[in-house]
Amino acid sequence: MTVVDDVRTTVATLRREVCGLHEQLTRYQLVVWTAGNVSARVPGHQLLVIKPSGVAYDDLTPENMVVCDLHGRVVEGEHAPSSDTDAQAYVYRAMPEVGGVVHTHSTYATAWASRREPVPCVLTMGADEFGGEIPVGPFAVIGDDSIGRGIVETLSGSRSPAVLMANHGVFAIGPTARAAVKAAVMCEDVARTVHVARQLGDPVPLAPAQVDALFDRYQNVYGQR
Ligand SMILES: [Zn+2]
Repeated sequence: MTVVDDVRTTVATLRREVCGLHEQLTRYQLVVWTAGNVSARVPGHQLLVIKPSGVAYDDLTPENMVVCDLHGRVVEGEHAPSSDTDAQAYVYRAMPEVGGVVHTHSTYATAWASRREPVPCVLTMGADEFGGEIPVGPFAVIGDDSIGRGIVETLSGSRSPAVLMANHGVFAIGPTARAAVKAAVMCEDVARTVHVARQLGDPVPLAPAQVDALFDRYQNVYGQR
């Protein structure tokens, strides 16, 4: 097998994986219409695989995923890539440990984003997955590097794999695209529960030492060995 064949195999696998993960966005009701997307880095190559722009979730196939370089230029694909490609490419360039990026406007998380208010760490699930509050990033509009820069600046100083971009929505990252989707799902769930708690009073914050212990256990011990 040549090196070129090896890339082909990897890209084909990621096309199926990225396409399939979009089903989780609709399953957990994180998206409406075509507004939300998943991408994956092609490990060892300056490439990413991402949803095509404006194509309905029901019409996504592995074949219509788009392969771009890490400056958002199309390398392989019949469709234009997601309008969030530049922001996600920026994240892959700046954060080599990131293997997947997800963007949604999921309702409860985006409601917090509209108030530019971080989701406080008042649940064990918040400590487990986010290691603290879910932070807010700057207000930024599509058209230059400002969304990507805002994601990177906010998440570089945080244990959280998700950021609430001000007045916009959620960007989640992970070592894999699947992990990034999980972070997006958990972000919405935590945002919803804390919102509900707020209706009845003031949720009690977890102490920093409790947050540290929960985060460490969940990240390092929990799950299948
Ligand atoms: Zn958006």
